[in-house]
Amino acid sequence: MPGENRAKEETVVQGISASQGIAYGQIFVYLQSEVEVPSYEVDSEKRIDEVARFEKALLLTRQQIAKIKNEVEKNLGPEEARIFDAHLLVLEDQALILETIRDFENTGRNIETCFNGVAQRYIRAFSEIDDEYLRERAGDIRDVAQRVLQNLLGQAENSLSRLAEKRIVVANELSPSATASIDRSAALAIVTDTGSKTSHAVIVARSMKIPAVVAVSNLTQRVQTGDWAIVDGYDGVVILHPTKQPLFRYGKIQLQKKSFEQRLIEGNRQPAITLDGVAVRLMANIEKVDELAQVRENLAEGVGLYRTEYLYLNSSRIPTEQEQFLAYKSVVEGLAPQPVVIRTLDLGGDKPMASLPDLFPREANPFMGFRAIRFCLEHPDLFKDQLRAILLASAHGRVQLMYPMISGADELARANALLEECRAELRARGQPFDEKMLVGAMIEIPSAAVTADILAAQCSFFSVGTNDLIQYLLAIDRGNNRIAHLYEPTHPAVIRTLKHIVDEARVRGLPVGVCGEMAGDPVFAPLLLGLGVDSLSMTPGWLPTVKYIVRAMTMADARRLAAEALTMDSPKEIYAKCDAFYRTRVWVE
Ligand code: PEP
Ligand code: MG
Repeated sequence: MPGENRAKEETVVQGISASQGIAYGQIFVYLQSEVEVPSYEVDSEKRIDEVARFEKALLLTRQQIAKIKNEVEKNLGPEEARIFDAHLLVLEDQALILETIRDFENTGRNIETCFNGVAQRYIRAFSEIDDEYLRERAGDIRDVAQRVLQNLLGQAENSLSRLAEKRIVVANELSPSATASIDRSAALAIVTDTGSKTSHAVIVARSMKIPAVVAVSNLTQRVQTGDWAIVDGYDGVVILHPTKQPLFRYGKIQLQKKSFEQRLIEGNRQPAITLDGVAVRLMANIEKVDELAQVRENLAEGVGLYRTEYLYLNSSRIPTEQEQFLAYKSVVEGLAPQPVVIRTLDLGGDKPMASLPDLFPREANPFMGFRAIRFCLEHPDLFKDQLRAILLASAHGRVQLMYPMISGADELARANALLEECRAELRARGQPFDEKMLVGAMIEIPSAAVTADILAAQCSFFSVGTNDLIQYLLAIDRGNNRIAHLYEPTHPAVIRTLKHIVDEARVRGLPVGVCGEMAGDPVFAPLLLGLGVDSLSMTPGWLPTVKYIVRAMTMADARRLAAEALTMDSPKEIYAKCDAFYRTRVWVE
């Protein structure tokens, strides 16, 4: 057997951290093998039975996926369960089914062979598309096709649900349904040879709170079932055959993390005030109404970013003014008197409306193309429907409106002019809205940052979208894994730009929030606050950790950290400074 005679020496292998946590235990190697498909000719009198067999297998597959979906929904929530909607859609794909039957009628080969042939063609076609979302559909089809083939061949489910003992699951690749079938009480951690941070299987692992490390190349070939290992889901490291030293170190870290988690839960009930008495507003980012429960659970002081485009993305047509109003109203009423910052549409770029391809023609550079405010200003009727819906919702709580992707004063003026027209229309209709509703601009394009002083004259607040600001400042496509290591929030250009935005806003009395991912990272939060940012808005689940660091630091120290960072040249060194600032405050018992 390969590796049989290999000395079991301690080896550290690096992958990508995909789900946090630490595990120590024995490995179970899971090699997901493709189903072997026999090929034979079907006698003409048996051809009707063959089609019936296919239909039966499709039905059984549908039932199995619906069952997994229900379980995932029950255990993890509706968001994670949505992955399996994509799988159910594959089963309803008439083209896939009809092509299989047509191939069967033309060739007379058994239905498994025909189905496999068609599915492989689809998988190949989707994997070659230059669009991440559509490429992921190849994985969905592969997962579903394997299930259909297993059912056709009467093979047992290729499942991880029967792990006899607690094990670290090491796999070449994990499909979402294989991950969902893992018995939570038996899986210590998940490690895969392939995969990315955003693959569906990883999302499921994260929701199950199982530590996970992905992209550890060829690990399945280097280990055997029964080998001992430590999985560090924080730093994306796997230590094979660990000696006493790392065991001791990780044991200590694990204890610290446990006590930290307990302190997080307790601390989150307290207000977000620094040790020297400065209150910081910590808010949540949401995309849909059903996330309100998490916003409340994590005690956010309102919503700092409501990404409204999801209402469009999940629909086959443009939602009407009334439909939008009802959606916004339920968020606004649900959180009143806390504020809700509603961002106008940020469609296009990585978020085209798949159901309306004519509105979103393919572009060579979608991130720098026809998206967000550029799209809205070219479709004023559609934009005004949304503006009126937001104004109407403002009568039901505390609404603030902001525009994404503002690049200069002209765009802001044109958007504000349309908003003014909407106000006049609602007055004429006799419909109430908040006449004092604050209007802000997202600062996420370098030109907006540079002209912050000019933009400040036309709005009431700034919200910095660091995800895009970093992408455009450093010319690093935020979705491109190959250059992900160059996407550095601590690049001096980023820090100086943030400082410039805050300084310009302060002179003109405007508050500045940050709503990009940087705001939810406890390593960066002190730096942002030290630079003078007033509020941070983040994924609800990050709130307790950020609140913890806010409560464990003084604003004076954060300002010193920012002042020092502004004098430094190296992104890595600035990161190390921020990391040390965080760690020294978190690990103090
Ligand atoms: C950002 O760019 O930082 C931001 C918050 O917007 P989005 O991630 O939706 O582009
Ligand atoms: Mg953005």
